[in-house]
Amino acid sequence: MIDAHMHLEQGSYTVDWLMEFINTAQSRGINEIWVLEHTHRFFEFAPLYQQVKEVNDLQRKWIEDKHLLPLSSYTNFIRDMRKKTFPITVHFGLEVCYFPQHEQFIRDMLAEFNYDFVVGSIHFIDNMAYDLKGISEATLWDRYDTDWIWKRYFELMEALIKSDLFDGTAHPDTLKMFHRMPEFDTTANWNRIADLLVKHQMYTENNVGCYYRYNHEEMGLNDKILQIFKDHHVKLYCATDAHNPKFVGIHLDEIKDKTLYD
Ligand SMILES: [Zn+2]
Ligand SMILES: [Zn+2]
Repeated sequence: MIDAHMHLEQGSYTVDWLMEFINTAQSRGINEIWVLEHTHRFFEFAPLYQQVKEVNDLQRKWIEDKHLLPLSSYTNFIRDMRKKTFPITVHFGLEVCYFPQHEQFIRDMLAEFNYDFVVGSIHFIDNMAYDLKGISEATLWDRYDTDWIWKRYFELMEALIKSDLFDGTAHPDTLKMFHRMPEFDTTANWNRIADLLVKHQMYTENNVGCYYRYNHEEMGLNDKILQIFKDHHVKLYCATDAHNPKFVGIHLDEIKDKTLYD
């Protein structure tokens, strides 16, 4: 059993902090964890977020309040950890905020280090964050038509997949988190996403983060979308998006049977 998405960012790049994640994983029967960090933690990725800052003061403050680290603090940690043996398998990757206008920059940055895996995430709709409580309402959801936001999201997802920059894409239906759902039928859109994921040999996640971190009533992927992905044989991993060791593996027991193929 794999937990394919967790972040160390609330602690330090030390063996002790990593071991806390490993210990919880073991206690929940997880034998492989995928650790990844957000690109918005690191100085070197700051150019990705320049236009995000320019959208409004809310987003500018959100970006400027981050205590950025040099990327080497993470890549050196990965190099050190690769020399060690752990009781379970540990992969180290990166969660990249995807922006279509920055594909070349992302490509250049990813060429500089050999991560075990790289995930592309849509966190921004035309530079506007969709998932930040207290910011996204005024920036995006209250200003733009919900159907437009969803259509734009699907366009960005397709561009992300077609970029061939990433091994997988994270939490594909987290746009639902504010319960602002589209009025149009999205079945054809999800079918297209599923087709493209298969064509570009990318995986996606059944990620329970929205459920336990943001109190969304669906535990992981919406059942209809999950079924579409399975009908297309999209490669799927269960993931918690744990930002703290105590959440590693949480709820995966409850979603694994419906998620994983036999
Ligand atoms: Zn994410
Ligand atoms: Zn994440």
